[in-house]
Amino acid sequence: MSALLITNGYLATLDEANRFFENGAIHIEDGQIIAVGDLDAGTCPADRTIDAGGKLVMPGLINAHHHLYSTFARGFTPPGPPSSNFEENLKNLWWKLDMALDSEDVYYSALLALMDSARAGCTTVIDHHASPSCSDGSLDEVERAFRDVGLSGCLCYEVSDRNQDGEGIEENERYIRKCRDSDDAQMAALFGMHASMTLGTRTLERCAEAAQDLDTGFHVHVAEDEIDVRLTRERFGQRVMDRFADFGIPGHKSIFVHGTCLEPGEMDLLHSTDSILVNNPESNMNNGLGVSPFLEMLQHGVTVGVGTDGISSHPISQARAMYLHQRAEHRDPTVAFAEACEILLKNNSQICNRLFAEPRGALATGQLADVVIHDYVPYTPVDADTLFGHLMFGVGFSRVETTIARGIVIVDAGHLPGLDEVAIRANCTERARAIWARIN
Ligand SMILES: [Zn+2]
Repeated sequence: MSALLITNGYLATLDEANRFFENGAIHIEDGQIIAVGDLDAGTCPADRTIDAGGKLVMPGLINAHHHLYSTFARGFTPPGPPSSNFEENLKNLWWKLDMALDSEDVYYSALLALMDSARAGCTTVIDHHASPSCSDGSLDEVERAFRDVGLSGCLCYEVSDRNQDGEGIEENERYIRKCRDSDDAQMAALFGMHASMTLGTRTLERCAEAAQDLDTGFHVHVAEDEIDVRLTRERFGQRVMDRFADFGIPGHKSIFVHGTCLEPGEMDLLHSTDSILVNNPESNMNNGLGVSPFLEMLQHGVTVGVGTDGISSHPISQARAMYLHQRAEHRDPTVAFAEACEILLKNNSQICNRLFAEPRGALATGQLADVVIHDYVPYTPVDADTLFGHLMFGVGFSRVETTIARGIVIVDAGHLPGLDEVAIRANCTERARAIWARIN
């Protein structure tokens, strides 16, 4: 049994009553929060007490769509002329990079991105993985990185027909069974697919059959760019969401990513099937794509989340980009601010609560002990009316002092005490050089 006590924190609990405590405490035991608020330290036995020094303490953040394998793309320029559209970007960069990864690269790329996540105050990551040269067992390598850093993860393998028909189906099946048969709630699984434009009819049928037997949801890109819409219409005569619906892909646990080019009828389909749509604004901007209409999706009743899509591991920056993107698009300084913050702080945890057995996203009794002390002492009041302003204009620019994931201190004074960061960095630099040489 291990116990931890955090004292003297400015708590933003994000619990049902949305309570704040200017000098609050959190008592943690065996990975779970057992008490929060004005606690008497004398009645909270602990192996370690952390004085938060009046800094802001919040629940761990959640990244609802990541590609951990993309880590080694940082600083890399693909050979040849710059990609002029989305399809060229996939072919010239991402599909060459993922093909170049071996199983150790899979582990180390995930490890680095998860270390970044921990330092960004993110304690749960929903990942979408591809490594066609070593697909079998690759999700175990990603899982190994999660366990070494200490975060919670929901994994899937990206099935597509781009190399061979249905590549990755078995890896999804294997890993979903592994999670289902395990008593350990740290890891969860979904059935991953790339996108409609890379999935033939037979492959979609096989995925749908496999997932039905496993009682799982899907994790797939949808209408990220006009090309997914156009190729689906040309080859199959349908809108993308209508095609997915024919195979039973939408549902309570299914995550659809981007939706930049979705039409209102497809948003209604997402709503009527209680599906999830995850927005990734910086990725869309980086790829020169349209602005994902998440405000319209909210109006249609869709559950919208936010992720990073591999462009970083920093969830707050995405919520910020999300509302700024909408304000620029609509030329309206009144829109999207509260919605973007609520999507990050509330919707992302609701999404996790569909996928994981342990509840998370609030500082409350019975919640998973994912707790972050931001190196941020507020100089203006923090309450229900002002928290989002602090989040967007202050917290997002501060360091994380302490990250506690599953009741364990994994970031301590900005460092990761459980990992040899120097050795990892040396190893990763060598790996990145070798991967880049293989792509060239
Ligand atoms: Zn993605």
